[in-house]
Amino acid sequence: MPDARMLDWISKKRNGETLAEQEISALIQSYTRGDIPEHQMAAWLMAVFFRGMDSREMLALTRSMVESGLRLDLSKLGCPRADKHSTGGVGDKTSLVLAPLVAAAGVAVPMVSGRSLGFTGGTLDKMESIPGLRVNLSVEELLRQLKTVGCAIVGQTEELAPADRKIYALRDATATVECIPLIVASILSKKLAENLDALVLDVKVGNGAFMTSLEAASDLAQNLVAVANSFGTKTCAFLTDMSQPLGFAIGNTLEVTEAIETLKGGGPADFKHLCEYLATQMLLLASPGETLPQARAKISGLLGSGQALERFSRMVEAQGGDPRIVDRDSLLPRSRNQYVVTARQTGCLAGVNARSLGIASMSLAAGSKDPSAGLTVHRKIADWIEKGAPLCTVHYNEANVPALVLSQVESAFQIRNEKIISPPLIKQIIEG
Ligand code: URA
Repeated sequence: MPDARMLDWISKKRNGETLAEQEISALIQSYTRGDIPEHQMAAWLMAVFFRGMDSREMLALTRSMVESGLRLDLSKLGCPRADKHSTGGVGDKTSLVLAPLVAAAGVAVPMVSGRSLGFTGGTLDKMESIPGLRVNLSVEELLRQLKTVGCAIVGQTEELAPADRKIYALRDATATVECIPLIVASILSKKLAENLDALVLDVKVGNGAFMTSLEAASDLAQNLVAVANSFGTKTCAFLTDMSQPLGFAIGNTLEVTEAIETLKGGGPADFKHLCEYLATQMLLLASPGETLPQARAKISGLLGSGQALERFSRMVEAQGGDPRIVDRDSLLPRSRNQYVVTARQTGCLAGVNARSLGIASMSLAAGSKDPSAGLTVHRKIADWIEKGAPLCTVHYNEANVPALVLSQVESAFQIRNEKIISPPLIKQIIEG
């Protein structure tokens, strides 16, 4: 006998009506308890996908999902708490740098991260490519680590936003992921459960992101900022460029190595700039006493002095990984083979299909079940390239470079005989 209330909620949403806060709360509670069958929830999600939600419904959905689990009690830490969420992009290893960097500046960072999604890599998969490292910390372990190290990068536990875990799995299986109200509630339920003072959102836009147009990214960012701020968490968003991979490395171990180089004060210019920019914003939002020049100088000093790197190695050790990886790259897994793709003509790099490179990297890692597989991109948009110059190195573990990967990589670089201007890294700022 179908649940009459659920039938009503599905048909209301199907007809484009709005649901009251109490209805959304009852729906989420019942589903999380297992009282609503998957097929009815799938139908409701599809109705939301097509009909959308107004801002009141989005707020109610987010609140119900946060309340499905516990909120971390970080009041005893005695320092401000901040986090960053990225909507995901190719080569985006920013979290690995930001968590220790911002912790070294005196702001605790309880970073609850995700796994790879589609063509984008996941922070947890990158962290787990460090031998021995665990991301499945219990809430007690997480709180202890925040006290001793100041930061942690962990997976979603059973206790934090359990409704999101269940709903996300169902969305993944019912093609209802790309829906702004569902994305807003999913992302923010996890972040608000962290009980933060400040949240910085990095909304990626371009062919290597889920939002390919500036309008769609801006719409998502505005909704995220409005909902998070209405919970009292100071939040702002930055629309950042994903029309080419971030930095040069794509693939779990390669990205860990690039993050370590950046924590040593080096690293690719675009990636370093983004890390410094977002870390400064996290510090400013979480510690209102700081001025912009002070926050900037502090962040750049922590990278230059090795303090951010030291914090990273403490975080790795606390989570069971070998902290010597920061000085001995050879302790990280390495691919057995490399193949260099070169330019077929002379000209300016006009475009890079970051999505294709993300797919190629994911299939290399999946094919060899090895985190060392991936790509190193050698050039950025607007670079002048001579025929025969290296464009990208493929790191692989099979006997030959997989043919599909090779064609994806070769066709990802568009070279034209005209001058090209490089795209701005920060495209738009959305404040609460
Ligand atoms: N990341 C999430 O956590 N949820 C979404 O819905 C999309 C990206």
